[in-house]
Order: sequence, then C-alpha cells, then structure tokens
Amino acid sequence: MTAGAIRVLPPEVAARIAAGEVVERPVSVVRELLDNAIDAGATRIQLAFDEGGIARIEVSDDGRGIPPGDVELAFERHATSKIASVDDLHRVHTLGFRGEALPSIAAAADVEILTRARGEPVGVFLALAEGRPVRRMARPAPEGTTITVRDLFARVPARRKFLGSPAAEARAITTLAAHYALAYPGIAFHVLNGGRRVLSTPGDDDIRHAFAAVYGADLARQVLDVAAGEGPVTVAGLAGPPSLHRGNRGGISIFVNGRWVQSRALLFAVTEAYQSQLPVGRFPVAALHLRLPDDEVDVNVHPAKAEVRFRDERLVARAIRLAVRAALEAAAPVAWRPVIS
Ligand code: ADP
Ligand code: MG
Repeated sequence: MTAGAIRVLPPEVAARIAAGEVVERPVSVVRELLDNAIDAGATRIQLAFDEGGIARIEVSDDGRGIPPGDVELAFERHATSKIASVDDLHRVHTLGFRGEALPSIAAAADVEILTRARGEPVGVFLALAEGRPVRRMARPAPEGTTITVRDLFARVPARRKFLGSPAAEARAITTLAAHYALAYPGIAFHVLNGGRRVLSTPGDDDIRHAFAAVYGADLARQVLDVAAGEGPVTVAGLAGPPSLHRGNRGGISIFVNGRWVQSRALLFAVTEAYQSQLPVGRFPVAALHLRLPDDEVDVNVHPAKAEVRFRDERLVARAIRLAVRAALEAAAPVAWRPVIS
C-alpha cells in the first residue's frame, strides 16, 4: 500500500467541483439568479438571454440591492445574508441559503454585477474573471441588481460538450421562467430571448393573469379555481377542466411554500384527481400553490434545489388530490353541459 495517496484538494479544484453541482446548464444559472432576485424582494424582474444562455444571461431586479461593502463577499463561497446559524436551517424562508450560487457561477463564466442598495447614492459595478474580482467602480444605477453572465463554461470544455443545442437550452430557460411567473404572480416578469420578448406578466398578484401570460387568454378563461385545506396543508391555484389536456406533465406546476418543486409523487397526485376523466396517457394543466408549516418540509436536500422532502408525502399528495377533485366537482355541471355554439 502506498502511503500518502489521499490529499486535500487545492481550493480552486474544490471550487470547480462544487460549481459543477450548482451550475449544470444555463437554466441552472437562471434559476439561481431568479431565486436571488426574488429573495431580494423584487417586484419586477427582467431576464434576457442569448444563444440558449450560453453566450449571455442577464437578470435585472428592483430588489434591495447589495450594500457596497458586501459586493465582493457575495461571490465568496458560503457567504450568505440569509441564514446565520444551524437553527436557521430548519426555518429557511428564502429560496437561497447556501451562499454557493454566485461563487459557482463566477467559477464557470465571466460575471459582471451592477447593484445599488436602498439608500445608497450610487451603485457599485464589479467585474469578475475566473471567480475573482478584476474591476470595481462606482456607477450610477437604479435601485436593485443586474447580474450578467457571459460565455458559460468557456473554460470548462468538457461541460460545454454536454449542453443541448442553444434552442433546447433556450426552451429549458423559457419553461423555467414560466413556472416562476406562475409561482410569483405578484412579480412582473419580462423574458427576452435573443432580444425578442417571449414572456411578460403583469405582476398584479392575480395568478389567472400570470396564467394567461404563459398559456394564453383562452386557456386562462377555462381553468378552475382551486382552494382547499387538508390538515396542515393548504392548496390554492388553478386547474384545467378535464377537456384541457396535454401529452406530458409539463403543464403542471407545483409550488411548495413558493418554491417550484418537481416531485413525481405530487405530479401524479394532480393527474390522479381527474380519475377517468382524462384520456389515457394525457395530463392536465394546473398551477398549484401548497403551503406547509416549516416542520412538514425540508428544503435542505439538493444543491440544485430540484427536490424537497416532506415529513409525510402521502398527506401532501392526498391534499392535492382532494383539492383538485373538489374544484372539478364544483365545476362539473358546467363541464357536462353540452357545447352550444
Ligand atoms: P444565497 O442566495 O444562498 O445566499 P448566493 O451566492 O446566491 O447565495 O448569493 C450570495 C448573497 O449575495 C446573498 O445572500 C445576497 O445577500 C446577495 N445577493 C445575491 N443576489 C442578489 C440580488 N439580486 N439582490 C440582492 N442581493 C443579492
Ligand atoms: Mg442564491
């Protein structure tokens, strides 16, 4: 046995590995930047991207901004303003809390930030290369933050090879933005792909208006209100009538305490609520907001935040089933009325 085969990796290697866990594709960058904008209390978020986000991703928000003394710190690993202690981990009310997104993004791409914190007379501009600050200056800016990410994975060719086509990456970003628009109807989202506006929500806190922006006014007129509670779980939002169905589950959005989650069990619960009313192999359209007490859900599971863990997933699935079924039953007389043209 050779001695001394195990070594602690140099910090830049460790950072590169950690970055890979957070930043898999352009859409993972977008998710992190949107999360930060939402955590900053934004009421308006603009997302612009080019070439599927590989060439450029830019997110601007009107949130609280970063104080001048903290801008560099925001790009250091495990630097966060959102939690301070182990106890805080059990009651995370923000989308971020690990302090890993900005350093990971800066390790994988060229990043610029322009931010002005509330009450500051002027903004701070900071450019980073290979994760390190290279240029800083005071610059006039609106209150809020703009982060620009260019040439993602230019220095990680192996990772670049595994990306989809720009069109596929663009689709993933637009889909994510649509879910976020439904998750936060109180925020006005503006999404530009290659300079072309692909989504614009009013931000008036009416989920039906956000739904109309994503799926069109016609669908938005047909969807049913869902509002029910089961034990500690409340379910609110919209669900399509059985006549509206699609070939995949992409039209179902589920949010847990404001966080978009992709859970097979919960997606299944939505579909199950329709029982035999949907044709075989077809799926409904729905946007459902679940509210649960902190001790019923653990968000501290997955670095890319795709999953949360429930204390009792069956209870949550049941709450969804009952809520959607109640909405369908309330609307049944309308659904069964013969179509008069
Ligand atoms: P986390 O979100 O887990 O705290 P990030 O690396 O995403 O970690 O961000 C680090 C810190 O930078 C945040 O805690 C926050 O204080 C600040 N920050 C990042 N983006 C924004 C933004 N858009 N507006 C205001 N502050 C931000
Ligand atoms: Mg974050």
